[in-house]
Parts: sequence; C-alpha cells; structure tokens
Amino acid sequence: MEPALRPKTLDEYVGQERLKKKLRVYLEAAKARKEPLDHLLLVGPPGLGKTTLAHIIAYELGVKIRVTSGPAIEKPGDLAAILTNSLDEGDVLFIDEIHRLSRQAEEHLYPAMEDFKMDIVIGQGPAARTLRLDLPRFTLIGATTRPGLLTSPLRSRFGIVEHLEFYTVEELAQAIRRDAALLGLEVEEEAAQEMGRRSRGTMRIAKRLFRRVRDFAEVAGERRITLERTLEALRALGLDELGLEKRDREILETLILRFGGGPVGLVTLATALAEDPGTLEEVYEPYLIQLGLLKRTPRGRVATEAAYRHLGFALPMDPLL
Ligand code: ATP
Repeated sequence: MEPALRPKTLDEYVGQERLKKKLRVYLEAAKARKEPLDHLLLVGPPGLGKTTLAHIIAYELGVKIRVTSGPAIEKPGDLAAILTNSLDEGDVLFIDEIHRLSRQAEEHLYPAMEDFKMDIVIGQGPAARTLRLDLPRFTLIGATTRPGLLTSPLRSRFGIVEHLEFYTVEELAQAIRRDAALLGLEVEEEAAQEMGRRSRGTMRIAKRLFRRVRDFAEVAGERRITLERTLEALRALGLDELGLEKRDREILETLILRFGGGPVGLVTLATALAEDPGTLEEVYEPYLIQLGLLKRTPRGRVATEAAYRHLGFALPMDPLL
C-alpha cells in the first residue's frame, strides 16, 4: 500500500494561502463559539483541490463529512435521506458540482440551510400531510466549477464564498517534493520545477505527472528522479513546454486556422471541435486564459499573439505595417 498522499490538515495543504488564512479564522471562531461553520461555497476549475479542502475542514473541525454530488441528488427524498440519516450536529455535508442540483432538490435545501428544517410530504391527494423535520445543525460545503449556473437564492444562502486559484510553479513543485518524500524517493529540484511548470497550475495534473514520471524512474531502476528522466516522461506524454496537451493545442489551432483567430462564439468553436461547450469553457479555457493564449471578449473567443507564437504560426497581418 502506498502512504496516504492526500493532505489531512490545513498545514499540509499546499498553496491557496489567502484562502487558508481566512479559513483558519473562520474555523477558530466557529470552534470557540461551539457552533457549526457557516455554509461555504468553494469555486474554481476542476483539480484545484476543492474536495480535498472540504475533507480538511471537517478534519480540522473534528466532525464527520458526508460526500455527495449535485447529480446524485435527484429527488427531494434523496436529500431528506442524507440530511436525516447520516448527519450529526456540526457535521459537514459536501455537495460537489452543486450547480447540477435539480431545482426541486435545491428548493428543499433552502430551509435546511437557513433554519435546519425540512418539509416532507407524506401520502398523496387529500390525505397528504406535510411533515416538518428538525435537522442537525450542519455545515454545507458546496463545490462548483461554474458559479454562474448557481441560482441567486442558493448562492445567497452561503455565508462564505471563496475562489481557489491556480497554483504557482513553486507550489506545485513543493507538493511534488512532499509526495516524493512520503514515498521515500528523492527528486531533483529541477525535475520538481519542470513538473510544476507543465502542470497547468493544477494540483491534480501535478500529482498525475509525478506518478507517470515515477513510473519511468522505477522502470529504469532509479530511486532518484532526475531532470533527464522527467523530460523523457514528459515527451512520452505529449506535453509541451507550457504543459499544453494535444487537446489544448487543437483548440487554439482550430481557433486560428478555422476562425482566423476569432472572435468566435463558444458554441461554434465547441461544435468545430466536437466538444461539449461546458467542458470547453470549464476544463480547457481557464488555463489557456491564465496563460494569456486565449481571451474571452463580448464578441467571442480570440487567440492572442502569444498563442500564434506558441504554436509557431505567423501573426495575422497587422494593419499598421
Ligand atoms: P477538485 O474537487 O477541486 O476537483 P480534488 O480535491 O478532487 O479537486 P484532486 O484533483 O483529486 O483534488 O487532487 C489530486 C490529489 O492532490 C489528491 O490526492 C489531493 O488530495 C491532492 N491535493 C489537492 N490539493 C492539494 C493541495 N493544495 N496540497 C496538497 N495536495 C493537494
């Protein structure tokens, strides 16, 4: 068995310093008052560690966490079952992809969040009765990649709304060094930095890259992860020097070659790529935007000069030249 690489405490959780600083205050205040933490919404692209953070918060509060997701709660009954059966006072309920909660389930969540009560209807027709259930005072932690899809009544019921940020190269390298140490491996500083640079600011990718590089090292019979072995693995994985994968490059290429660099609407671009617009917007675009390769404008998506340069295309004619 491998040692648990998942951080358990806020101290072990790398980066997100601004957020951690605030969380420490909120956690301490809630503990001092012996009250549940306010409901918390975590916003950010996939793979930044929202789920991990929710577990850490429960751990730091000394309470249990129950994990579910928006699409898993179809009917109000599903929600009632979770809220009444498995939660004790102060526990955390984590709902991943909370923007995908059905409207019906969402409406039942309002009184649960606000007053820790839930109305359920028993029976049908004229004999139907509404029963008001008292719930334990719990903390809801919602995670979303698409805050824009949350209804405003739901959003307004979160006392704390926090955004996770992309990680810096140094933070990603730090997490890689930590994993390596836990596995009893040595990693060259330049190797950790290189993996960090190619991880698109995303913790999940850094951890995945590290596992692949480690495979290459192990097969070569090495306990020390070198820059050379890292570069070999990265080449095999098809990652370029900005950490872009084939799909990222295809997006920029399509934008440049088929749409003259834009502006082009999200749906048109997604159709040309045979991609789901939501995935394009949530999964691929944030990092391309962060790198300054793509811009969202009111008229659509635009490839920047940096994108042309990165892919080795000649810049479109500059009217001033
Ligand atoms: P999200 O819910 O935002 O999509 P996640 O919490 O599911 O992300 P993963 O993407 O699964 O996180 O992260 C990959 C691995 O990296 C996991 O083992 C996770 O515990 C760990 N991890 C995530 N964030 C951090 C961090 N800031 N520091 C150290 N390890 C982290």
